[in-house]
Amino acid sequence: MILLGSTGSIGVNALKIAEQFHLNVDTLVAGRNIDLLNGQIKRHNPQRVVVMRDEDRIFVDHHDVRSGEAEILRAIEESDSNHVINALVGFVGFRPTLKALECGKKVALANKESLVVGGAFVDTSHIVPIDSEHFGLWYLNQTPRPVSRMVITASGGAFRDWPLEQLSTATLADALKHPNWSMGQKITIDSASMVNKLFELLEARWLFGEGEYDALIETKSLIHALIDYKDGSTTAHFAHADMRLPIAYALMGRVDTPIVDRIDLTRVGGLEFRPIETMRYPIWEIKDELLRSPARGVIVNAANEAAIERFIAGDIRFIDISMLILRAYDHFSGVPESIEAVFAVDEEVRRYVRGFVC
Ligand code: NDP
Repeated sequence: MILLGSTGSIGVNALKIAEQFHLNVDTLVAGRNIDLLNGQIKRHNPQRVVVMRDEDRIFVDHHDVRSGEAEILRAIEESDSNHVINALVGFVGFRPTLKALECGKKVALANKESLVVGGAFVDTSHIVPIDSEHFGLWYLNQTPRPVSRMVITASGGAFRDWPLEQLSTATLADALKHPNWSMGQKITIDSASMVNKLFELLEARWLFGEGEYDALIETKSLIHALIDYKDGSTTAHFAHADMRLPIAYALMGRVDTPIVDRIDLTRVGGLEFRPIETMRYPIWEIKDELLRSPARGVIVNAANEAAIERFIAGDIRFIDISMLILRAYDHFSGVPESIEAVFAVDEEVRRYVRGFVC
């Protein structure tokens, strides 16, 4: 496999699956965590390695080390492997997804931003998602029945139990305290603002087609997806939250050995479900409109990434992230008609958000 983002939260879990099932790792792509990357090189012996910055190349213990986005694309082209795991974070993952598909490779996609910004231009028949919720929907869909609605669950993120009036004081450290598990920095912030769930609904829309989609909060993160059928029944996918499960399926299609322990419902006790309310998660206001016009996801993604940069820099408050996304969503109309237009809109929206005085 070609593994993009090997040093991240998903990348590390993907390598655990590679070890467990003796899968060959052909190419490793990482950002700045060179110490971790060097350990991975030793263990997996890839043919080539790509890092983000040119100045880091000399610290990487490998004979074929390249750097930068163009080299990620070249590595995908050169590799004989037909499997790409895209575990990069953010818009930077979009071009590699397009390149992998153009080369006829199968993409195990954790980088949900690829579908959020460009789902209209991506052939999803060659994509398998790495996300617990989409894995859950796929799992439940294995027995075809007339579906009326697909529902995914959210943990509620770091602020789900905060008094609403305190949200304006939330710091970066607060936003990174996910209630149920540990993930990369950006997705943890997206989880706190509920942007992550909005993105997952868009991802589901591109993967499973038109239909009714929704989300709700399940505080223990034991149920990942539910399907309502036309006959009035509902099925739910339960599993301990562990990304190795969707990763194993994305890489192998079928799994006959235990990956996670089964859930003992007698120990779980009760489950709690909550609606996603716009008072706490203002971004939820645009959910229905966005699902009707999913190609506008590029606006939301660019605004979100630019706002998160400002939040991390200490320039805006946590609650301003959602406000800036909603402003950008109102300000920019229309949908991009081509891949080039996706890149142009992305740049324009970022400029708008970076210049917005809060
Ligand atoms: P992380 O931030 O933990 O990892 C991101 C990876 O991308 C790291 O290896 C990082 O390198 C690398 N990277 C970032 N920018 C560049 C660049 N310009 N060039 C090369 N490498 C780069 O993120 P996650 O693993 O949490 O998330 C990855 C994707 O998967 C996201 O789209 C997220 O939404 C999605 N996802 C994550 C889940 C999770 O449980 N974490 C669950 C479902 C989906 P380095 O660290 O070395 O700087």
